[in-house]
Amino acid sequence: MPLGTYKEALSARSTDSKILEVSQDGGIVSALLCFALDEGIIEGAVVAGTPDDDWRPIPTVVTSSDEVIAAAGTKYSMSPTLSALKEATRQYGLEKVGVVATPCQLQGLRKAQAYPFTRFVVNKIKLMIGIYCMENFPMASLDTFATSKLGFDSLTDATKMDIGKGKFWLTKDGEDSGLAIKETHGYEQAGCNICMDYVAELADVSTGSVGSPDGWSTVLTRTDDGDSIFKAAVSAGLIETKPMDEVKPGLPLLEKLAKGKKDKNTAERERRAKLGLPLPVES
Ligand SMILES: Cc1cc2nc3c(=O)[nH]c(=O)nc-3n(C[C@H](O)[C@H](O)[C@H](O)COP(=O)(O)OP(=O)(O)OC[C@H]3O[C@@H](n4cnc5c(N)ncnc54)[C@H](O)[C@@H]3O)c2cc1C
Ligand code: SF4
Repeated sequence: MPLGTYKEALSARSTDSKILEVSQDGGIVSALLCFALDEGIIEGAVVAGTPDDDWRPIPTVVTSSDEVIAAAGTKYSMSPTLSALKEATRQYGLEKVGVVATPCQLQGLRKAQAYPFTRFVVNKIKLMIGIYCMENFPMASLDTFATSKLGFDSLTDATKMDIGKGKFWLTKDGEDSGLAIKETHGYEQAGCNICMDYVAELADVSTGSVGSPDGWSTVLTRTDDGDSIFKAAVSAGLIETKPMDEVKPGLPLLEKLAKGKKDKNTAERERRAKLGLPLPVES
């Protein structure tokens, strides 16, 4: 199953205009975090902010809706998010923590949950929101896309960064400039070429844009907790939903991309194994 185990697949969007103004897609991540904070399901969360507005993702502990919203939007470089979990539980003293993470980070978190010596941190995680992820770029590569390939003076001139419809997009002064995805190949982090998970299969709730119309998100609820938190946020009127089979392009595109990533990266793993190069240990 290319999408992993899930309970429900829906197209969804936040109903909060403050979130939609700044969110990457349908604002599902921010809406769920704000709801979980308001309901006391979590006392805080680790997200990826960019405090210097330079697109460098910095793990940030947030404890209020305003802070959640300030950290909305995708930064396409690696955020060492898990490094801030200890800070959240120790310095902030949070007993119930949310985390927004890429599929590879969730693999690390689920593994940590199985090891007793990390339980004082990971047992406090009450909500894992996973974001779909095809690849991730070093900051230097994002700089190259902006300046050498798209003619920006600086990456910091961009007000939005996105990947979609076959292109890497930067927005400046309300105008979108696109770079064909094939021109970004070779710049991604090397580990992304052997990564098998597109849709955050180990999250409580996973979300991304693929499958839904612009401004909406495709949501997969996976665990009992994730499913009930998502449904409660919908019942509270903070999220609106549509059945996936009523939206275009729908789940078939998500399945195609998830399977495509597994197939392509299986081939790369086999190539690396033949060369005697190291592969991740997965058990
Ligand atoms: C590297 C990367 C690649 C992605 N590739 C795809 C893709 O191929 N297809 C797809 O459908 N979706 C992809 N996404 C997810 C998509 O860009 C959105 O993040 C997702 O749809 C959530 O949007 P939202 O409006 O619900 O979130 P928002 O409400 O805007 O909140 C976004 C949340 O993500 C956090 N965040 C931002 N950057 C990072 C980061 N680098 N690491 C961890 N957390 C971060 C923010 O702090 C914030 O909490 C990717 C995301 C990343 C980070
Ligand atoms: S593609 Fe995989 S390894 Fe690369 S950042 Fe995304 S989840 Fe992590």
